[in-house]
Amino acid sequence: MIRTLWFFLPGEGKMKITEKLAIDAFKNDKETHILLDQKVCHTCKERFCIYACPANLYSLNEKEEMVVEFAGCLECGTCMIACIYGSVQWKYPRSEFGVQYRFG
Ligand code: SF4
Ligand code: SF4
Repeated sequence: MIRTLWFFLPGEGKMKITEKLAIDAFKNDKETHILLDQKVCHTCKERFCIYACPANLYSLNEKEEMVVEFAGCLECGTCMIACIYGSVQWKYPRSEFGVQYRFG
């Protein structure tokens, strides 16, 4: 019954991806579930992770080190696949933590 109501919510079909993502909820753990090998990232020229992450969580800090903000992670695993150098150690957040999707 709930699924049916969600399906017919007014305007739901017209929502942009960014709008749908904006109403997702996150319960963040204290510890990250994404680790980077800085030695590997330091030699990387392509920075695939920055372009691959749909949530724009990867960036360079003031020391030019690659960092990832795990708090907004959509748990898609794309960064782990996109990083062909094996720098990304990724696992799902612990039980009860992470993203709760509303509209996908
Ligand atoms: S995570 Fe992978 S793609 Fe991103 S900077 Fe490091 S080595 Fe490069
Ligand atoms: S799992 Fe997806 S959303 Fe999370 S950091 Fe990697 S690419 Fe970004």
